[in-house]
Amino acid sequence: MPALAHQRCFNHARREAVARCPGCERYFCRECVTEHADRVLCASCLKKQSAQPTERRSRWNAFRRLMACVAGLLLVWIFFYFAGRVLLLLPSDFHEGTMWQEER
Ligand SMILES: [Zn+2]
Ligand SMILES: [Zn+2]
Repeated sequence: MPALAHQRCFNHARREAVARCPGCERYFCRECVTEHADRVLCASCLKKQSAQPTERRSRWNAFRRLMACVAGLLLVWIFFYFAGRVLLLLPSDFHEGTMWQEER
């Protein structure tokens, strides 16, 4: 990695760079970078960041809620399916009440 002191700002060729944008990996002077969520970003990356993620995150949340709903329904369905299977697998004389007939 080249030394930061020898880098020049991407927008201002005469100014020394003080930070490197993690988004576009270009060097920028103090005026061209902004701190955003503990990260130093250049103006264009900041615009990109603030434009996209909120929409994407809400869509992702909606998707996850849908998946949770489907998974819940599937679990309930599987539970009742196997409960039905277990009831069918029980020996038929279990249902004929032989136990209480003997008791009588
Ligand atoms: Zn950038
Ligand atoms: Zn600059």
